[in-house]
Amino acid sequence: MSHPTAPLRAPLEIEFDYTRSLGPVLSQFMAALAERRILGARGADGRVHAPPFEYDPVSAEPPGELVPVGPEGTVVSWSWMPEPLDGQPLAEPFAWALIRLDGADTAMLHAVDAGSAAAMRTGLRVRPRWAERPAGSIRDIVCFEPGDGPPDGSAPGHAGEVTPGMTITPVRLHYMHTASPGESAYLRGLAEGRLLGQRCGVCGQVYVPTRGTCPADGVTMTEEVELPESGTVTTFCVVNVAYPGQRVTPPYVAAAVLLDGADIAFQHLVLGCDASEVRMGMRVRAVWGESGSISHFTPTGEPDALYESYARCM
Ligand SMILES: [Zn+2]
Repeated sequence: MSHPTAPLRAPLEIEFDYTRSLGPVLSQFMAALAERRILGARGADGRVHAPPFEYDPVSAEPPGELVPVGPEGTVVSWSWMPEPLDGQPLAEPFAWALIRLDGADTAMLHAVDAGSAAAMRTGLRVRPRWAERPAGSIRDIVCFEPGDGPPDGSAPGHAGEVTPGMTITPVRLHYMHTASPGESAYLRGLAEGRLLGQRCGVCGQVYVPTRGTCPADGVTMTEEVELPESGTVTTFCVVNVAYPGQRVTPPYVAAAVLLDGADIAFQHLVLGCDASEVRMGMRVRAVWGESGSISHFTPTGEPDALYESYARCM
């Protein structure tokens, strides 16, 4: 069990798929990969870039016809990846390498499955290992592997689902969040069904959630204040947009709720009435959910608070 005043920590994960258009040049590049061909672009200075540029770095013009390169190439530079991360090309240790494909003047970044760092070197000849089911993505090249010429048993693959012109990039961020001492005290209060704030010793303002330091005076706040579950909607918005993972069905209200006795509002859901009924000044109270957290706020039915009573806390 952790120390009762030690900062709380919890793993957090942010994950979404980023879908975007590839544009005319990279669409051709990816479509060719699905046919196990690699394309480059010849620039105004005669140099061949692979992958192809979208705009010539010399003339700023889009490329003309794309030219085939490789598929074999030479390692120009590399870095060993001893502990691959989830989502990287290979699960076993591999090299990230800049590979200059035959016929190209620039290098392209990809993974090399060399087995060990000792087998990697600048100047190493490599060839692509193609995916069994190409999909028109950079991952149609699983990785590169040491060797020259076509790999053994390199029968043509069977095209999978190719979405021309689009690519989906999965984005995932996994990290450990450490709450500040103030946040930790607030969260521990919630677990006990209490709403904790802090009062600044200089300006007397009460902040909830607690933040440890007064943002106006810069002084450490030490006086703990327990606040009631009731408050006032100072402002709000009606959420009409649906999104993946949404836990409440739109339309619903996200509001700034000023707890009685606090000098700053915090944001929460207002449920328990039609979204169209929520208004500035509406009196609400907390509805507790499982595991010591506020599920949402709901109208109390009291008369609305006067605008003057919360105007300075918007
Ligand atoms: Zn202050």
